[in-house]
Amino acid sequence: MIDQERIDRFKTMTEADPTNELGFFSLGRAFLDGGMAAEAIQPLQRVIALNSSFSKAYALLGMAQRQSGDSAGAIATLTQGYRIAHDRGDLMPRNDMAMMLKELGAPVPEIKEEQIAEEDLQAGKLKCRRCGRVAPKMPEQPFGGDLGKTIHDSICGPCFREWIGQGTKVINELRLNLVDKQAQDIYDQHMKEYLNLPAE
Ligand SMILES: [Zn+2]
Repeated sequence: MIDQERIDRFKTMTEADPTNELGFFSLGRAFLDGGMAAEAIQPLQRVIALNSSFSKAYALLGMAQRQSGDSAGAIATLTQGYRIAHDRGDLMPRNDMAMMLKELGAPVPEIKEEQIAEEDLQAGKLKCRRCGRVAPKMPEQPFGGDLGKTIHDSICGPCFREWIGQGTKVINELRLNLVDKQAQDIYDQHMKEYLNLPAE
């Protein structure tokens, strides 16, 4: 369904400030949601011109190009976006782009994972599953249990602290009461997704 009011609002926003990347992003998404893929292309290209590391914009641009019949353009955009999302640790856009590349019959870029050196392992460092950096382990498990141990073994301190900030938002937005077992499971699920840990 075309939401003209929403489109107009973001159009006005981007006309008022041609450097507003979020405005262009929202405009592109409004076009896409309205089934106007061809119109979405230009604003999304503008987002990337303003901020070349905005990985979600590549995912939407690739989708818009594909829906307007430009498969070659979509593959180029998604291949580039996949690498950027990987480097930044933006997992959801990265996985979305990998799926779109597969659907388009294109190869997903192979990214050589940096291996952790033996001496770093000996020194108690880890290669973080979320950001890919080699970093010291946190001084102790952030909490008890298997999940706490997995995190201690595979996630760096800065990433875990980022999750704490994110987790607070999850608790507030979903109104989770962590005394409740079901709420605890939902919280853990978000945490695993955020930290790039296996679901089970
Ligand atoms: Zn990390």
